[in-house]
Amino acid sequence: MSDNKRILSGMRSTNPQLHIGNYEGALRNWVDLQNQGYDMFCMVADWHALTTMYENPHEVSVNAREVAKDYIAAGIDPAKSPVFIQSHIKEHAEFHLLLSMITPLGWLERTPTYKEKQQDLGSAEREPYGLLGYPVLQTVDILLYKPFGVPVGRDQAPHLEIGNDIAQRFNRLYNKDVFQPYKYMIPEDENRAKLPGLDMRKMSKSYDNGINISDTEDETAAKIKSAFTTPTKMRKTDPGIPEGCAVCQYLKIYSPNWEQQWEEDRNGERGCMQNKKELTEIINEYFRPMRERRAQLDDATIEDILRDGAKRAREVASATMDEVRSAMGIY
Ligand code: ATP
Ligand code: MG
Repeated sequence: MSDNKRILSGMRSTNPQLHIGNYEGALRNWVDLQNQGYDMFCMVADWHALTTMYENPHEVSVNAREVAKDYIAAGIDPAKSPVFIQSHIKEHAEFHLLLSMITPLGWLERTPTYKEKQQDLGSAEREPYGLLGYPVLQTVDILLYKPFGVPVGRDQAPHLEIGNDIAQRFNRLYNKDVFQPYKYMIPEDENRAKLPGLDMRKMSKSYDNGINISDTEDETAAKIKSAFTTPTKMRKTDPGIPEGCAVCQYLKIYSPNWEQQWEEDRNGERGCMQNKKELTEIINEYFRPMRERRAQLDDATIEDILRDGAKRAREVASATMDEVRSAMGIY
């Protein structure tokens, strides 16, 4: 067993609010790891957000503070776990440039998330050079902190693989074991690893199809009311297909009685309205303490937390950069 207890992860600041998919896929594990005594480094990936939001850089910056609030609301204790903004650590930019030189283009062009994002952007004119390098920048975020593991959702698995491949390539090219492979910490439960959105696509900040950690109780109720259910279940007595119903998917995570609820849904013994009503209550109860904690956080406190987090993160990142330059013979 390694004695390295450092963990690194991050979220893009494409939106001021994180959703329950971000929570189930990653943030919930961060809090657990922190509470188990790991050194949890919590980054807000503002530069990553720019790959698709380059027209609104100021908004990305404002969002970054709000994302940090969600981390803390969910149970991250900034005294234990540094919370910091990616762009505050300039080492990420330097290392990104260096790794760009050693990453084969084919590895990036093959990435499934790249192809998806390309499609989302629509035209080649709108597609920035930086988008292709997304996994390189993510590799930098990880390697600078030399973590034992990286807790993320299932969609990030291809990026994590590229990251370990780039690390190996670096070690081989410069003949020095600077980086050890890190572990992928993806929830075992597939539903949590890739939570469906209210429309049954992947829940994503940029699709606006999520229930947010910081939504009000009324917002939560309205969203659940509009959620996708079994399309052929018009009446309570029609049979449901819980596997394809967003509400049933959330019940499976949050409701202790989900098995019975699924059974009744399938057998036409309960209607979608009842599912929605029960789910709303359970979700609002689950997230109430986080929402209350978030409401207590003011902007000045967050700036102090981020300054302190950046200082602690920079110490680690700059030590790694010294090793990187030395391995490459750059002085
Ligand atoms: P965007 O649309 O801006 O990419 P996102 O919702 O996909 O936003 P990211 O910032 O890309 O969020 O990812 C943050 C973390 O949340 C990552 O670890 C990612 O794997 C995880 N994550 C994102 N969406 C889901 C989801 N639907 N289910 C589980 N985990 C998710
Ligand atoms: Mg994403």
